[in-house]
Amino acid sequence: MPSGRTHDRITLWALPWIAGLAFWQTRSSNITLLIAGGFLFGGLMFGPDLDIYSRHYQRWGWFRWIWLPYQKSLRHRSFLSHGPIIGTTLRVIYLCCVVGSFTLLMLLIIQKLLNLQWNWQITGESMGRSLIFYATEFMALFLGMELGAMSHSLSDWSGSAYKRFKKKGIAGVLPSGKIKKRKVSSRMTRQTKRSRSRKSVKTAENKKI
Ligand SMILES: [Zn+2]
Repeated sequence: MPSGRTHDRITLWALPWIAGLAFWQTRSSNITLLIAGGFLFGGLMFGPDLDIYSRHYQRWGWFRWIWLPYQKSLRHRSFLSHGPIIGTTLRVIYLCCVVGSFTLLMLLIIQKLLNLQWNWQITGESMGRSLIFYATEFMALFLGMELGAMSHSLSDWSGSAYKRFKKKGIAGVLPSGKIKKRKVSSRMTRQTKRSRSRKSVKTAENKKI
């Protein structure tokens, strides 16, 4: 697994390529900026390693504690944090829930303190409208974050595959080796269980005799 510094380098080196590709495909400076910004955010702060005490986690500074429940509920390098699409989607939902609950709490406190009448229905409707209106921008930002997270996960996987290759050769990289081993070991355990139960029946019979 590459170190945090290597992950950062990969993100920074890939950034001009991502930005160039985005501009070439979209011809829009706004969308390019959102994809590139999302890529930087995803690669440096909002990446899969938020499931552990990491550079990503430390970069949240004062607010890093918001990721503690996320870390507690996920195993490091699990599919839910490092998997494609699912990792970024879960983190976005998690962050939206945290930020949403705090905003709601703050608004309720302000409402009570200043005795204001807040129309929650209008607030909800305008939020929904802006989500639809800026759908392309949100998608661009999400794509950038996903690419940033994937550059991390891919380098994690290729790093471990390279280590296995150095240790065991090509067999270490191929998944079939593992499956065969698992099949053989499960067959062996089944056989030993059967022979053990036969032995116990025999000894019971001998005792009776
Ligand atoms: Zn990782």
